[in-house]
Amino acid sequence: MSSLGEAITTARRALGYTQEELAEAAGVTQAALSRYENDLREPESEALARLADALGVTVPFLRSASSVRGAMAVDAHMRKRATAKATTWRQLESQLNMYRMHVRHLMEEVSLRAQQRIPTFDPIDTDAADAARMVRMQWRMPIGTVRSLVRWVEAAGCIVLAEDFGTTRIDGLSQWVDDYPVMMINVAAPVDRIRLTVGHELGHLCLHSSEPTLAMEEEATRFAAEFLMPEEVIRPQLRNLTLGRLHDLKREWGTSMQAIIERAHDLQVITSTKRANLYKSLGNHGWRTREPLSDELPPEVPALAQSIGEAMADKGLSREEIAEMAGFSDADRNKLFVATTRRLRAV
Ligand SMILES: [Zn+2]
Repeated sequence: MSSLGEAITTARRALGYTQEELAEAAGVTQAALSRYENDLREPESEALARLADALGVTVPFLRSASSVRGAMAVDAHMRKRATAKATTWRQLESQLNMYRMHVRHLMEEVSLRAQQRIPTFDPIDTDAADAARMVRMQWRMPIGTVRSLVRWVEAAGCIVLAEDFGTTRIDGLSQWVDDYPVMMINVAAPVDRIRLTVGHELGHLCLHSSEPTLAMEEEATRFAAEFLMPEEVIRPQLRNLTLGRLHDLKREWGTSMQAIIERAHDLQVITSTKRANLYKSLGNHGWRTREPLSDELPPEVPALAQSIGEAMADKGLSREEIAEMAGFSDADRNKLFVATTRRLRAV
C-alpha cells in the first residue's frame, strides 16, 4: 500500500522542487513537510489543500494516489546512457509515476476501450524476437515496415507522452502497473531513434513485469530490432551493404543506418570487419553523430491522450472539469492532454 507521504514526495520530485521550495510555495515549514512526506504526521485539510495546489493537483488525486495497491513510486524501464544525470532521470521517473496516476484517476471516470491489448510473455519461455513476431501477428500488422509505430502502441491502450527531456542522454521510459501502461518519449531525438525507443519500451511492457535489471535491456533491444526490422523480410536486403544501400534502407524501415548495420551484424549477414568499415564510412561523412534523412521520415506523434480529452469535451465537459477528473488543480496544469514541449526545470 502506498501512502500520502509517498504521493506528495513523488509529485514534488516530478516538478523538480526541493522540500524547501515546495514548503515555501505551500506556506508550510520544511520540518512539517518532511514529516508529511515521511508519514510521521498527516497534514491538516487546509495544509493539504495548499500543498496540492502548489503541486498542481487536486486533493482527491493525492488521496487516491496514496491508496493504490503497491507502491506509487516505482522504478521505470528507461532507455538512457550511462552518462545521464541521476537528478534528471529520477525527475523523469517521478513524472512517469505521476502520469500513470493521472491516467488511473481519469479511468475511474471514463473507460478506455482499446482495440487491442499489449500481450505479455515470460522471457524465460519466450525469446524476445519470438515475442516481437507474436505481437505483430496478434495485432494483425502488415508484413514489413511499421508505419506510425506510436499509433499501434496507443491502439493497445498504452498512453504515450512525447516531451522534450532537455537532454539527449535519456530516450524514453515506460511502466505498466495495474491496467495502465504508460510511456514517455524524448522528442529531442531524431525520428529513427524515437522509433527504436518506442519498440524497446514496448519490449519491456511485453516481457518484463518485475523490477528492471540489466539483462532486460538486451531483451528489449532484441525485441525492438525484430519488431521494427523483421528478419524474414530484411535479411535478404542486408547483403552487399553500402552507404547508399543503408540510406535506402533507412528510408524504407524508418530506423537509423547504425541500427541497420547492427541488425545485419546480429543476423550474421555481415562480418565484424565489414561492420567496422561501414562505421568508418559513416564517420567519414560525419554521419555517426548526425545521420542524414532523419528529418524526412514521417514523425511519430502520439494522439491517444489528446483524443480522450477531445472525446470528453465533445460530451460537453469543460476544460476545467476534464482537468479535475484527471486530478489536475486547473486546466493549465493538465499535462496529459496538451502537446507539451516544455523543458525540465532541473537538468
Ligand atoms: Zn530498457
